[in-house]
Amino acid sequence: QAALTSKTEDPYPDWKPGEPVPYAALCKTFSLVELTTKRLIIMEHCSLFLRQVLRLTPGDLLSTVLLMINRLAPDYAGIELGIGESLIMKAIGETTGRSLAVIKQDQKEIGDLGLVAVKSRSTQPTMFKPKALTIQGVHKGLMNIATVTGNGAQGRKVDGIKKLLSAADANSSGKVDITKDKGGPSEAKYLVRFLEGKLRLGLAERTVLVSLAHAIVAHEAAKKDQVPSTADIEKAEAILKTVYSELPSYDVIIPAMVEHGIMNLREHCKLRPGVPLKPMLAKPTKAITEVLDRFEGQTFTCEYKYDGERAQIHYVAKDADEELSQSLPSASTEVGRGVASIFSRNSEDLSRKYPDVLAKLATWVKEDTRSFVMDCESVAWDVVEKKVLPFQQLMTRKKKDVKIEDVKVKVCVFAFDLLYLNGESIVEKSLRERRELLRQSFQQVEGEFSYATSMDGQELDEIQTFLDESVKASCEGLMVKMLDGTESGYEPSKRSRNWLKIKKDYLSGIGDSLDLVVLGAYYGKGKRTSVYGAFLLACYSPSTDTYETVCNIGTGFSEAVLEELHKALSEMVIDRPKPFYSHSSGGQHQPDVWFEPRFVWEVKTADLTLSPRYKAGIKEGVDPAGEKGISLRFPRFIKVRDDKKPDEATTSRQVAEMYRKQESVTKSKGPAVDDDF
Ligand code: ATP
Repeated sequence: QAALTSKTEDPYPDWKPGEPVPYAALCKTFSLVELTTKRLIIMEHCSLFLRQVLRLTPGDLLSTVLLMINRLAPDYAGIELGIGESLIMKAIGETTGRSLAVIKQDQKEIGDLGLVAVKSRSTQPTMFKPKALTIQGVHKGLMNIATVTGNGAQGRKVDGIKKLLSAADANSSGKVDITKDKGGPSEAKYLVRFLEGKLRLGLAERTVLVSLAHAIVAHEAAKKDQVPSTADIEKAEAILKTVYSELPSYDVIIPAMVEHGIMNLREHCKLRPGVPLKPMLAKPTKAITEVLDRFEGQTFTCEYKYDGERAQIHYVAKDADEELSQSLPSASTEVGRGVASIFSRNSEDLSRKYPDVLAKLATWVKEDTRSFVMDCESVAWDVVEKKVLPFQQLMTRKKKDVKIEDVKVKVCVFAFDLLYLNGESIVEKSLRERRELLRQSFQQVEGEFSYATSMDGQELDEIQTFLDESVKASCEGLMVKMLDGTESGYEPSKRSRNWLKIKKDYLSGIGDSLDLVVLGAYYGKGKRTSVYGAFLLACYSPSTDTYETVCNIGTGFSEAVLEELHKALSEMVIDRPKPFYSHSSGGQHQPDVWFEPRFVWEVKTADLTLSPRYKAGIKEGVDPAGEKGISLRFPRFIKVRDDKKPDEATTSRQVAEMYRKQESVTKSKGPAVDDDF
C-alpha cells in the first residue's frame, strides 16, 4: 500500500499519462489484494489503482474494471471463454516448451494452474524480449479467444492463449519463487486464472463497484485541489450502486461517469429497454403465520408462484423516441410495430428460445404502449385442457434456434410486474401502481398472455385457500408481496423481505429447496456401474469465492437422467479439485472424480445438520469451534437449473440462515440482502 500511496516514488514508472495502462500495473494491484483478507485494505488498493487509471488513461477504465471482475462484457452479450483446464495446460506447455505430461504432473502437485504457469515460465529462459502487455491488449486478446467459432476453434483458442502467455511478464526477471507471496504479481498467473474464470483474490464485484465510486469522487475532488467529504463519498457510493442495479452494464455506465461525473450519473444512466436488470428475488418462508408476522400492519398481495422460467421482456416501438429505439441489442426481433428481446433470470438472451412468444407479442401490446420492460414467468401450457403444465414439460423445449413450426410445448406468459413504461422507469412506484399500469397497458390473450392470478385478502384462511388453489392449478405455491408504500418498490438484484415465497412442498420442511453446484462424483455400483451413482454438491461463498461442500446425493435420479448427467459431466472431469473447492481432506471422503464447476442442480432436503465432513457455512459461525460445516440430510435431486450459473447457487450464508431458522424458528427481521454480491 505504501508503494501505491507514496508521493515520491512512482509505482508504475512505465506508465505515462495518455499511454495504455500496463497490465503489469493491474497485476501489481492484484498481488497486493491477494496478500490480505481485509475488505477495507482491498478496497483501498483497488480505488487507488482506479484513481490512477482515471488520472492517466481514463479511456482504459472500462477494460480495467472488466478485468478486475473477471468478465469481458455484460452478461446479455453472451460472451463466454468456454475454456477447460486441458486447453490451458496445452497452451502453457507449448508456450514454455514443456511437455504436457510435466505440466499435468505440476498441476497434480501444485493444484493451481496459475502457479503452474509461473513455474513453467521461470524454468524457461526467454530468448527474446516481447512487448509488454497492456490492459487493452489483454482484454482484446481474451475477447478474441472467447469469440472464435467454427472449424478449428479449439486450436485457435490455444493460439490466442499462447500469444498472451508468451508476452506475459516481459519485464520481470523470470525467476519467481511460487511458494512466496502467493507467486507475486505475475501476469501469467492472473491471465491463467482469468481464463479459468476465477481470479481468487477475494475481490467481490461489490468491492470493485464501491472502489470505483471512491476513485471517481477522489479524482473529481483532486481536479479542484480538494479532498472529498465523507458525505460525498457516501453519496457517490449510493448513486453507483443504484445505477448499477437498474442498468447493470459497465459498458454504458463507465463512459457516462467519466464524461458527466458521478453526481449526475442518475440523469444519464437509467433503466432502459435493451439492458436486462438483475431481477428482484424472494425470501423463503415456512408458514403462512410467518408471512402474517412479517407484513403485520401493512397491506400485501398474494400471487400464484408459477413454475416455469423467468422471462424479462423488453420492447420498444420503432417510432418511439430516437435514442430509445436504438437501445435494444441488434439481435432483438421485430414484433409488429416494434422490436423486442426476452432475457433470462441471469440476463441471457432467450429470444432464440422463444420465437413463438415474440411472434405473438404484438397482439398483447395496446396501441399507446410505446416501450416497456416487463417481469414474467413463461410456463408450459396445455392447449387442449387450457391449463398450466409442470416445469418438466418446459424443459423438453430446445434451448436455442427454435423454429416456430417445430414447437411442441406451447408456453403462456404470466406477467407479474412492470418496471419501465413509455420511456420511464417505474421501479420506485408502489406495486399497486405498477400493477395498475401493467393491466392498463396490455390485453390478455388466452393461453398466450395473462396476468399472474392474484388475491389481496389479508386473512390467514383466505391465504390458505388461495395456496390450495394455486397448487391445484399446478403452481409451486404463492408469492406474497408488499403492496403499498415505498417498501413495495421493485428492488433489482435484491432477495428482499418485501417479497416472500411460500412453497407448498416445503411448509413442513426447511422452507425452500437449494440450488447447488456439482463438484464431484462417485462411480455407480450394481445397476449403475456404467454411470455415476452419487455426486458431491456444494454451495457458493461469495465472500471467499469458494465452493463449500454440503452433501453427497444419490436419490431422485431416474436411470435415464443418470445417463444424461454422466454424458454431460464426463466432459468436465479434471485431475484434482480446484483450489477454490472447500471440502474435508480425509481420504475416505474424496469423490472418485472431480469436475469443473459448471452445473447447478436444485435439491430438496429433509433438514440440515452439522458435519465435520462438509464445509458449508463454516465461516458463518454455525459451529462455534469452526470445525463442522452444514450438511443436508436425505437430499433429493429435483432438476437441473440451466438458468443459474455456479456463482448464482445458494450461498453459504443462505444455507446458514436455513440452518439457524430450523434451530429456532425466529422471525426474519434483517435487511434485504443483495443476492449478487
Ligand atoms: P426458485 O427456485 O424458488 O425459483 P429462485 O432463486 O430462482 O428460486 P426466488 O426468488 O426464490 O427465485 O423465487 C422467485 C421466482 O419465482 C422468480 O424468479 C420467478 O421465476 C418465479 N415466479 C413465479 N411466479 C411469480 C410471481 N407471481 N412473482 C414473482 N416471481 C414469480
